[in-house]
Amino acid sequence: MAVPVKVALRIRPLNQREKNDECSECLRTISNKPQIIIGKDKPFTYDYVFGQNTAQIDIYEASVQPLLDALFKGYNATVLAYGQTGSGKTYSMGSGYAALSSAMASVSNVEIQTSSILNEVGVIPRVLNDLFTRIDNQQNSNKDLKFSVKVSFVEVYNEEIKDLFNLKGTQETLNIIEENKTIRVMNLSEIEVKDSISTIQLLKRGSKGRVVGCTSMNDQSSRSHAIFTIFLEQVNCSSQSGPNSDIGRLIKSKFHLVDLAGSERQNKTKAERIRLKEGININLGLLALGNVISVLGEENPDNKPKHVPYRESKLTRLLQDSLAGNSHTVMIACVSPADFNMEESLNTLRYADRARKIKNKPKDSPSIRIVQPRAHLSRSSTISSANRKKVLEEWRLKKQEEEKSKPKKPAFKIGASAQTSFKSLVPTSSTFDFAFSVSGSG
Ligand code: ADP
Ligand code: MG
Repeated sequence: MAVPVKVALRIRPLNQREKNDECSECLRTISNKPQIIIGKDKPFTYDYVFGQNTAQIDIYEASVQPLLDALFKGYNATVLAYGQTGSGKTYSMGSGYAALSSAMASVSNVEIQTSSILNEVGVIPRVLNDLFTRIDNQQNSNKDLKFSVKVSFVEVYNEEIKDLFNLKGTQETLNIIEENKTIRVMNLSEIEVKDSISTIQLLKRGSKGRVVGCTSMNDQSSRSHAIFTIFLEQVNCSSQSGPNSDIGRLIKSKFHLVDLAGSERQNKTKAERIRLKEGININLGLLALGNVISVLGEENPDNKPKHVPYRESKLTRLLQDSLAGNSHTVMIACVSPADFNMEESLNTLRYADRARKIKNKPKDSPSIRIVQPRAHLSRSSTISSANRKKVLEEWRLKKQEEEKSKPKKPAFKIGASAQTSFKSLVPTSSTFDFAFSVSGSG
């Protein structure tokens, strides 16, 4: 049975800077409908739309928790956070491990979802918490059930794959191979873990490696794609067997949790050499992902084999078997509500709209499914405050000019005229203007 990629659209609140800049809001939600309106009248519909005040737990329970059911049944699962820099991807994924691990040190596994201190906790710690709670519960009711949980953590930075759990501290970049139609990262560390708190500590250590490298660049936002993968193995070791018994059946599944980096628009950020190179590589990964999503989402009534360009980037290669159809996948598309970011938000809405057209065909995977990787983030500020002021000024002037030059339309043509003015407000970048454009994220 085909399972579409689900899209959860999340709008973060206006941040202080946007308030100081007196940005107005360009996004509206519709009550009781998973719909969002951008600008005057352009609607998009997703599987879920989460407004500014939606709590982390509500997002998790609605969109991500069901993937755990699938994982325990032997399906693969993937959550991808997509959006421009500062739109809330890392906040949503819960990849801010340093603050989290100190908060968690004083709290037990089961308390994570109820403690008020931890209301801010994002998806990854909640997945880990639920995973180990379920394992405990299942083992308490059946001592013959054995589980193994391993984790890996990779980042894709400038088209190189780095193992963030490589405790040897070597900086070697890893290669991808395909074996029996399964994507593997050679020499990737997979660490066996027993509970959520120690796994968060590991993540904290892993992410530190990258943060140090980027602090010297005085960076604040994620500049790499981060893939954290959980490998789950389950087996029933009972000596008794009966009809329809699952005894001895090894079930392997994996859960990718992906915090994508952002692609800034070079003309907006005035990126310099190193930022520019990063930006190009991030764009490359996100554009390749966009192309893959686009091809997978195309109607194919004759079921003709089609070329899917996974090899265009490391990111798409790593996610190949999550996007190719053997996974339950959720994209959390994050947007800022500020009119200043309207173009990037529109790009995100379009990107997410494409992703929704993919129909995966997950199948049980009781047999061999080998290693997979994942990555973590590095950080940079895509736009300095001086630059930001200038860009904001330029943007406002442009908007004013556009407003002035707009012909007055009669009220009864509101649909068409709104469409025209909407487009004029949202110039598309010629560089990325094909399947759909990629907006900044981080
Ligand atoms: P990204 O990873 O997309 O670059 P972040 O997740 O780092 O963005 O978010 C940028 C800032 O906005 C952070 O300070 C984060 O705490 C805040 N933020 C993001 N989303 C929300 C939200 N839904 N509610 C409150 N604060 C948020
Ligand atoms: Mg981030």
